[in-house]
Amino acid sequence: YAAKDARLPVLVYADALDDGRRERLAMLVDLRAALDHDEFEMHYQPKVDLATGVATSVEALVRWNHPVLGRVPPDAFITVAESTGLIDDLTQMVLAQALGQLRRWREADLDLTVAVNLSARNVNDETLPQRVAAALATAGVPAERLILEITESSVMGDPERTVPTLERLAAIGVTLSLDDFGTGYSSLSYLQRLPVRELKIDRSFLLGLADPPRARASRVLVRSMVGLGQSLGLKVVAEGVETTEILEELRALGCDLAQGYLVSRPVPGDLLADAVVRAGYRMPRLGLLPTPRP
Ligand code: C2E
Ligand code: MG
Ligand code: MG
Ligand code: MG
Repeated sequence: YAAKDARLPVLVYADALDDGRRERLAMLVDLRAALDHDEFEMHYQPKVDLATGVATSVEALVRWNHPVLGRVPPDAFITVAESTGLIDDLTQMVLAQALGQLRRWREADLDLTVAVNLSARNVNDETLPQRVAAALATAGVPAERLILEITESSVMGDPERTVPTLERLAAIGVTLSLDDFGTGYSSLSYLQRLPVRELKIDRSFLLGLADPPRARASRVLVRSMVGLGQSLGLKVVAEGVETTEILEELRALGCDLAQGYLVSRPVPGDLLADAVVRAGYRMPRLGLLPTPRP
């Protein structure tokens, strides 16, 4: 990883560091610049209702178009942003973009719900509910059309602090979704304490379904997670659905929603409706505008 230019003194000091830390420092400098220069772009991936075939919601996934490195995947920079506090600004930006897109969809008669990922630091930020409420007000969209995806590990560090924050978010009408479910280690005891309304089964379990030696055990796990979530009154989403076989299996297990490359890869907002329709699903309509002719 090479910095674009050594314009900041931090890079001089970085010479004394090992490669890994220098890389992180360089990325940090670039991330700050990226926020200032709008190098981020949002892509959206639909979650489809397996019973109705409607793409009820979409997950907003951030992309960084680095001027030198090209497209940097979020896993590579979210952790750096998280460890420095830049994540506060990044989340604020993502939220504003996603809600702005939601507003444009609503103006095009699409009744979508948008999901934004939160990181641990966001969930530990007691000002988050006010910030979310302000972003909703600025965009002029109802709180009921926003989902915030959280992970168990981000909540569990300090539940005395995070649970009340999540409850305040739920109280303003935002839906909370538990992402990467099954990968944490105290799933069951926390599930009933969290005000979540959606549970996303981690992609790793779906991969197991397609891997013959693991298929039987994976099927038992996925079935249990669907049953557990539904018996707690939650909508269950399977993430990372790549094949028709797996989709049919999820449907047979009664899973509520599916998300994955099979339906659509994450795409820019203006390409979403086409991608959904091409995959054979329907977009939800507000019904305020006449239905477009086929
Ligand atoms: P996640 O929230 O669990 O998001 C799902 C990831 O799985 C996305 O990767 C998505 O593109 C990918 N995916 C979806 N369907 C399939 C599939 O069928 N097959 C495969 N192989 N992958 C699939 P992405 O966009 O690279 O994001 C990775 C992670 O980075 C996300 O995991 C999330 O934890 C984080 N992330 C992404 N955008 C944001 C953001 O705006 N804010 C925060 N805090 N984190 C974000
Ligand atoms: Mg997510
Ligand atoms: Mg996930
Ligand atoms: Mg995941």
